[in-house]
Amino acid sequence: MRDVLLIRFGEVYLKGLNRPYFLKKLVDHVKHVIRPLGGTVWLSDSRIYAAGMEDMTLAREKVCRVFGIHSVSPAVEMEKDDFEALCHEAIRMMADKQGTFKVWARRSDKRYPISSMDMAATMGGRILEALPHLKVDVHHPDIDLNLEIRDFAYLYTEKYPGLGGMPMGTGGKGLLLLSGGIDSPVAGWQMMKRGVSLDAVHFFSFPYTGERAREKVLELARIVGEYGGGIRVHVVPFTDIQLEIHEKCPEEYGTLLMRRAMMRISQKIAEKIGAQCLITGESLGQVASQTMEALSSTDSVVTMPVFRPLIAYDKLDTIAVAEKIGTYQTSILPYEDCCTVFTPRHPATHPSLKKLEEAEKRLDSALIDAAVENTETVMC
Ligand code: ATP
Ligand code: MG
Repeated sequence: MRDVLLIRFGEVYLKGLNRPYFLKKLVDHVKHVIRPLGGTVWLSDSRIYAAGMEDMTLAREKVCRVFGIHSVSPAVEMEKDDFEALCHEAIRMMADKQGTFKVWARRSDKRYPISSMDMAATMGGRILEALPHLKVDVHHPDIDLNLEIRDFAYLYTEKYPGLGGMPMGTGGKGLLLLSGGIDSPVAGWQMMKRGVSLDAVHFFSFPYTGERAREKVLELARIVGEYGGGIRVHVVPFTDIQLEIHEKCPEEYGTLLMRRAMMRISQKIAEKIGAQCLITGESLGQVASQTMEALSSTDSVVTMPVFRPLIAYDKLDTIAVAEKIGTYQTSILPYEDCCTVFTPRHPATHPSLKKLEEAEKRLDSALIDAAVENTETVMC
């Protein structure tokens, strides 16, 4: 008899011929979190199993954060031949519980001599005899006691939801434009959840934004990176470009010209590191630079797809995800980012592409290459 984690996966099921590839990635990611806890991981019978960890609760929490996992149940694994011993263990597991229960029995081993219905009825009866304070309710039980007969027998009462999504690295590689705000860490996390591995780029306007603002961004990258193997952040010196836009171009276009410069630089960095898309935290209509016209004017300077997973999110929806994934408290620390310093009083919401392009003629395009050149890369 031993304690194990039963680990179920979700959408990987849909993968047809690619399924072995997705499964291998998923098992590798589970191994990555389980091995440091002293455990081993194996795949059998359309399930992942983990055993041997000293701290089962920590192990379960870590596995629940692996993208691609649907749910996790801490279970007791036993030899299946002695049904009385299984009932005994079930009684031990239920002894400190209160309220109503139902036994759910299943057997994938159809040669097992007792039918599922008989197993459930007998086990339920034994529990009632031994623990008269409990009651059976087959419609709305407080406790679901599960018995599964596979190569071994498994008993469990809890099922913890995982995050769902796809295994990290199966969805390609993306470059996240990471500011210090609430939105972009959430956007990056959403793409990671679909299996995209991330690098991040941050535009830093020293001395208009200070060291603490930079540290905040690196901390956000570290938190998001915990969900999948860490994130590299490319910190781009952006001050010269912002000052030049500020000095030479109409104020109302300041934000959009800056965003277009960010996109150009990001695409160059993405090409260098082998990323296939850019990701931003923009949401339609949230601010002046996120109207449909403004978004097309920033898209038009790059050829790579730009993914905006929050495009239809309300701010409150985004905040709820930020709280769940652990970035919110860091995001609301009050350090300015480079955009707030240079924000125009009356930004253009319906920009004309022609006017933007005219304004850009006054800018020194060599500054874009210089910014890429002077980028510093930090592993978070
Ligand atoms: P966030 O909360 O992510 O900062 P926001 O609603 O404040 O977003 P903006 O400041 O207009 O919106 O930025 C829109 C998007 O542009 C951000 O979500 C992010 O992807 C990118 N971005 C903005 N500032 C920076 C920066 N300094 N470095 C990298 N990316 C940035
Ligand atoms: Mg911002």
